[in-house]
Amino acid sequence: MYRSRSYRRLSRVTPSKKNVVHYERRKNSLPHCAICAAELNGISIAKNAKGRTSKTNSRKFGGVLCASCNAEVIKLASRIENGEMKLNSIQIKQKQYVLQMIAH
Ligand SMILES: [Zn+2]
Repeated sequence: MYRSRSYRRLSRVTPSKKNVVHYERRKNSLPHCAICAAELNGISIAKNAKGRTSKTNSRKFGGVLCASCNAEVIKLASRIENGEMKLNSIQIKQKQYVLQMIAH
């Protein structure tokens, strides 16, 4: 298991002057928006984070899309539902989320 680079290596000297390697799990990386790759706000990556609300956002696509991309997707979905826009005139990355919005 220590071959994996998800453990960082720390060289330490013990009290009896032996050189040993300690292994420590790396920090979790921050979650990013699936469309624009911006860091998501309001999500704790701490291991001791307690409760659902500190780990994700409660809106639609919370924890997946950032707030501005989410707003854009909702806007496009309603425009497509009302026939003001066509599905093939939006970005490919937005398309799957717009389709999910329309399905619900
Ligand atoms: Zn985004």
